[in-house]
Amino acid sequence: MRVGHDPETTQGFVNPPIVRGSTVLFPDTSTMRRRAQKYTYGLRGTPTLDALEAAIDELEGSHGTILVPSGLAAVSLPLLAFLGAGDHCLVVDSVYGPTRLFCDTMLKRMGVETEYFPPGIGAGLSDLMRPNTKVVFLEAPGSNTFEMMDVAQAAGIARDGGAVSMLDNTWATPLLFRPLEHGVDLSIHALTKYPGGHSDLLMGSVSATRETFGRLRDAQMQLGINVSAEDAYLVFRGLKTMDLRIRAHEQSTLALARWLDGHEDVARVLHPALPSFPGHDLWQRQFDGSTGLFSFVLRGGGREEAAAFLDALSLFGLGYSWGGFESLALEVDLTDRIHATAPTEGPVIRLQIGLEDVADLQADLEAGFAAVRAMRR
Ligand SMILES: *Cc1c(COP(=O)(O)O)cnc(C)c1O
Repeated sequence: MRVGHDPETTQGFVNPPIVRGSTVLFPDTSTMRRRAQKYTYGLRGTPTLDALEAAIDELEGSHGTILVPSGLAAVSLPLLAFLGAGDHCLVVDSVYGPTRLFCDTMLKRMGVETEYFPPGIGAGLSDLMRPNTKVVFLEAPGSNTFEMMDVAQAAGIARDGGAVSMLDNTWATPLLFRPLEHGVDLSIHALTKYPGGHSDLLMGSVSATRETFGRLRDAQMQLGINVSAEDAYLVFRGLKTMDLRIRAHEQSTLALARWLDGHEDVARVLHPALPSFPGHDLWQRQFDGSTGLFSFVLRGGGREEAAAFLDALSLFGLGYSWGGFESLALEVDLTDRIHATAPTEGPVIRLQIGLEDVADLQADLEAGFAAVRAMRR
């Protein structure tokens, strides 16, 4: 609980100070020339940002962490740091959609070739490695469809081929999965989600090994990107209750996912903690628990049925993002997938289970199913 801040440095106050600022004064020219003091300029760090970085390092088991203004920036910045013209990048096909967009637009324009591989490729990943493969980008479970992979195997193949491995760890948080312990070089988070936890901020982090951190921090400083002290403070505060919140999200989510798994209007539930899910064994072997985001496939129908279901919900909000206190639902678009293609039984609905009462949430979902059944009559 004390990670990231020592109260003795703030006259006993248990939380770090919110330090705003650009200019930092030096006592003399000699100190300034050598930059021989801890803080030198607001962009390069403050006590507030240090506290959050140190807390995340402790959770991730990383050598260093950088903070950026969104989860998506925590994806794009390390890709920019480790890729250049002529390089090849391998990306799991079930990756977060905007990650794919970044690869297909800006990285492409820079002369980087991206190749997508199926999440279940296993040892076959080594056949895709080329001499110019510099980055292998992973996400587990996959965005929206939750495919699992053997992370240590993929990270090992990347390392053997001389590439840096990165994993978007947003779903699990470092409480349930620590990528660096599985050989991954960089662990990426949308702190917007569970660490923030209250749907009131955007932030991202990248946590790195000793070997990769220098290049990552250099890229952050070359681009001139950091975060505000107030937002960093809120994420630091969110970390204090993240364990309790995630346990509550997990419990409610498992109850609803199991109920949906046996529901007559549901073709399939996509949740790695359910034994019926194809990646369940891989999840169980690698992860210490599950969180509040999963999907299910409606039994039959298309976009109209999905709209009828979603529009009948009153407790679940229709909105992007997740990891906050409130339940959310949306229709998943998987049209950009090459390998990890959409289920064919019906539309895919993604749910974020918040901290509301489970019985109320179940009744809300029943109203959605009733609306779909009414359409079919
Ligand atoms: C939400 C999310 C992001 C992006 O986070 P933002 O803060 O919304 O930019 C990145 N990766 C995953 C897996 C996410 O769910």
